[in-house]
Amino acid sequence: MNDLILVRYGELALKGKNRSEFENRLVRNIREKLKPFPGVRVTKTYGRVFVELNGQPMDDVTQALTEVFGVIDISPARRVESDINRIREAALQLVQEVHPRPRTFKVIAKRARKDFPHTSQELNHLLGSHILKNTEGLQVDVHHPELALRVEVRQEGTYLYNGSGLPGPGGLPVGSSGRVMLMLSGGIDSPVAAYLALKRGAALEAVHFHSYPFTSERARKKVEDLGQILTRYAGKIKLHVVPLTEIQTQIREQCPSSYMITIMRRFMMRITEKLARKNGALAMVTGESLGQVASQTLESMNAINDVTRMPVLRPLVGMDKQEIMEVSRKIGTYETSILPYEDCCTVFQPKNPVTRPGVERARELEARLDVEKLVTAAVEGTERVELTPDRQEEEFSSLF
Ligand code: ATP
Ligand code: MG
Repeated sequence: MNDLILVRYGELALKGKNRSEFENRLVRNIREKLKPFPGVRVTKTYGRVFVELNGQPMDDVTQALTEVFGVIDISPARRVESDINRIREAALQLVQEVHPRPRTFKVIAKRARKDFPHTSQELNHLLGSHILKNTEGLQVDVHHPELALRVEVRQEGTYLYNGSGLPGPGGLPVGSSGRVMLMLSGGIDSPVAAYLALKRGAALEAVHFHSYPFTSERARKKVEDLGQILTRYAGKIKLHVVPLTEIQTQIREQCPSSYMITIMRRFMMRITEKLARKNGALAMVTGESLGQVASQTLESMNAINDVTRMPVLRPLVGMDKQEIMEVSRKIGTYETSILPYEDCCTVFQPKNPVTRPGVERARELEARLDVEKLVTAAVEGTERVELTPDRQEEEFSSLF
């Protein structure tokens, strides 16, 4: 008997070439995700993916699969010889392993192999009565069963699985929508924005601006930690760490403090665009919402967005802070995000930022600076950090 996990996927609209591209990428991403589990085998058959556990723990592998975009649901499954006794045995076992214990069930059998001696209807009855006889407190409910036990008799064996599996994260496989450059701060929002972009199949690189020595090494480490958590969903992430100190110092010297934030963000956006183009990303992603803070009014977005023609994705635009925090908790970034380390924006935070900056005014003030030179210097001073999902293991093995 084989212990399996059945993974179902599928965006309804997928057709033709897109479909195989989607499937191949999904399988690749699942294999990558399950690398820490030696021996597991990932195969694609009949429009779904099977993961053979080969002794690896069902719960841990299932948990890992809930972090792979494109997965719709995840069900514990068995494959047995297509022999009625074996099938009966496996059906009962699967039912007994379901937690919490279901009160009602239904068997949904399908005979894809016509030489099998029992019809689907007969199988439903045979298996249903075997389960009823050998369990307590379980009843058949054909309309709204708590557990739908699906059975598929095929040439190479019979598959049984819990048809009411665990929900996956949905979305599209990471990498199927191209690459984006995330602006990653140490806050709550940008990691959530990253998660949502990943959910729609974007592969991720990230840029972080720091103002060392005004911001500390700890603050930078916090951002690396956030990026590290995101690798659970993203796989490897290249993080570009950009020094903003010189730019901020120049702005502070040359421009009125009310425009500090606007002009600083214009620089951030220019630099992010440059890094995006250099690295094959076709859009930028930010954690901005609408109306949250002074820099997130529509006027402000206009004044900042003025410097680029590259699409800027703002996945949080329709979300309330409460909703953003919920996602943040769910994806595991919240606890790190709320750690109290300073950010480059807060260090240079003016007392009186304009809430409705003008585009023309921003351009005018900025003309006092050598924009090109400052941008080029910042890009040249950028450090690259490779974040990989298995960093912990690497650190561990380096101890020996
Ligand atoms: P967050 O919680 O993501 O920090 P926020 O609510 O604090 O967002 P802002 O500080 O206005 O909002 O930042 C808006 C967005 O600008 C951030 O979500 C992020 O995408 C980008 N950003 C801000 N600071 C940085 C930084 N130091 N490095 C990279 N991107 C940044
Ligand atoms: Mg912030």
